[in-house]
Amino acid sequence: MYPAPFEYFAPASVSEALALMAKNADAKIIAGGHSLLPAMKLRLATPPALIDIGKISDLRGIQDLGDKISLGALTTHHDVEHSALLRNNCSLLPEVASHIGDRQVRNRGTIGGSLAHADPAADYPAAMLALGAVILAQGPNGNRSINADDLFTGLFSTALNANELITAVHVPKTDTKGGGVAYAKFPHPASRYAVAGVAVWVKIDDDIVTDVRIGVTGAADHAQRARVAEEALKGKPMHDDNIEAAAQVASDGLTTMGDIYASADYRAHLVQALTRDALNKAHHRAHGW
Ligand SMILES: Cc1cc2nc3c(=O)[nH]c(=O)nc-3n(C[C@H](O)[C@H](O)[C@H](O)COP(=O)(O)OP(=O)(O)OC[C@H]3O[C@@H](n4cnc5c(N)ncnc54)[C@H](O)[C@@H]3O)c2cc1C
Repeated sequence: MYPAPFEYFAPASVSEALALMAKNADAKIIAGGHSLLPAMKLRLATPPALIDIGKISDLRGIQDLGDKISLGALTTHHDVEHSALLRNNCSLLPEVASHIGDRQVRNRGTIGGSLAHADPAADYPAAMLALGAVILAQGPNGNRSINADDLFTGLFSTALNANELITAVHVPKTDTKGGGVAYAKFPHPASRYAVAGVAVWVKIDDDIVTDVRIGVTGAADHAQRARVAEEALKGKPMHDDNIEAAAQVASDGLTTMGDIYASADYRAHLVQALTRDALNKAHHRAHGW
């Protein structure tokens, strides 16, 4: 299938991109094109113009900011997967990126595109929630920060305004003493999108859980925290019985959805099983096992 005709712009800066967005209200930003182009080829999206942000160098790069790491919006899944800075300090992200699609998708797709698209089965949203990431956006009125908890608002929808761009994502350094992270995913066998996926960041002191964040993707219309499971674990020893008790309630409070691939009940079951796996893995990693 061929997309409908469209105009094409390739701005060299964020301000140029924002000016083009202001002049072309129905235009779409294009980054890696790995969600937008399939939609255009199926004529599910027919934007009259594309604003290609791929040449904006300010949107590239992974930087050490001390206690956190900044990823430019154009950072590809491949670059996340292979970044030594991330592998040593925030290893959840490379782990999650390695699960995305196939090599071609990881070479082209970007973190900004994935978050803006907010596919309910995308992998990064679970990690953003588990990490408590902050998403940086720029619009005509300047810059603002959006907490990951507030970004995903529904099916393919986010708190971003139509005239705003994601410029970067800030994630904390998690791989410190007592910190453990993990991602567990049940992938669709063809696309590799998550039928369900669970990302975990747990902090342990003397084997007591001082904090835990659990992000779930694939199960509902948008990624969400498994807050009932988090509360079930906080303040408790990270023992098998407590991990099991938290896993059992991991889908509580989530409105799981069913489709031709998996029923809502099956997704709820997957969330519980994947939470158990991710918590066990994170526990081992927190101890450096
Ligand atoms: C075969 C296949 C398998 C895949 N499997 C997986 C998978 O297993 N897991 C997974 O998570 N994903 C998967 N994906 C999706 C992939 O990760 C995409 O790359 C990603 O969802 C979108 O990133 P992109 O850079 O390609 O965005 P684009 O397609 O360029 O854009 C997507 C949307 O985001 C908007 N946008 C892009 N960048 C910005 C920005 N900086 N600010 C504001 N808006 C922006 C665009 O306007 C558009 O609406 C798969 C894709 C394909 C084709």
